[in-house]
Amino acid sequence: ATPMSIMVGTGKGAQNGVLIKNAEALESMEKVDTIVVDKTGTLTAGKPELTAIEALGGLDEDEMLILVAAVETASEHPLAEAIVNAAKAKSLDMVKASDFSSTTGEGAQALVNGKQVAVGNSKFMQRLNSFDSTLLERADKRRKDGETVMFVAVDGQAAGLISVADPIKPSTSEAISLLHKAGLRVVMLTGDNEITARAVASKLKIDEVHADVSPEDKNRIIKELQSSGKVVAMAGDGINDAPALAQADVGIAMGTGTDVAMESAGITLVKGDLMGIVRAHKLSHSTMRNIR
Ligand code: ADP
Ligand code: MG
Repeated sequence: ATPMSIMVGTGKGAQNGVLIKNAEALESMEKVDTIVVDKTGTLTAGKPELTAIEALGGLDEDEMLILVAAVETASEHPLAEAIVNAAKAKSLDMVKASDFSSTTGEGAQALVNGKQVAVGNSKFMQRLNSFDSTLLERADKRRKDGETVMFVAVDGQAAGLISVADPIKPSTSEAISLLHKAGLRVVMLTGDNEITARAVASKLKIDEVHADVSPEDKNRIIKELQSSGKVVAMAGDGINDAPALAQADVGIAMGTGTDVAMESAGITLVKGDLMGIVRAHKLSHSTMRNIR
């Protein structure tokens, strides 16, 4: 490829909020036939808001929110931020946590007011032997509306659930329909639950869904698509997406996401607007056409 055409291409991209790191990213983008997208923070705004707290008894809702917010203060996950913000919005007395630890893609725990408090998905709760299946029916009801449900345990006992809703970004639907028109297949990967994932995917007419995936799974799924002959662009925002972004033929990071994601990607969408993928795809075609 001639450096001049590439420079013009990347310049046009930059004007439209599509930062292209190198010629290789632009060249590979032309060959892409599959777009893999992370759900939270990529398809959705990544700014979830609390919709419900359901305590099993023992604690009331505010008490549970105080304990969980204390744990999540130390976490950088968007779900954690939603919980902390909800506690602040309710003007609840914030307390300090110690001995914080987190498991990427699963949840977090800490010591709060002398209690061991854990919050996360069912896998996390099962790992801590704190899963209560009676919460499942309530959880699934919310998941069918596309909400993300987290379970809470206190001193190893299931204490309830916390649910949040993360709105789909305004341009996501149009971007996916344009990617379809360009002949691309769209695949969703998420660490979130299957029912939530399917609710969001069906709204957006996504072709293929992989839910409950760990960060390593994301990487593996990209590799599998590649071995089946697909040329894959992966769009994501989180630390957990970084390995998959690096593995993909083209990594596309949300500028609204973590630095690690941007460092691992060949393309960054400044505003995290998925129309940027459509633009990058068009730009790769026009640039490569100019060169030939
Ligand atoms: P995604 O792929 O949608 O960005 P993650 O892989 O980061 O999601 O997380 C998967 C799931 O693990 C979340 O839906 C949530 O249930 C749980 N989880 C992860 N981190 C946290 C946390 N800090 N607090 C509560 N739950 C968490
Ligand atoms: Mg994400």
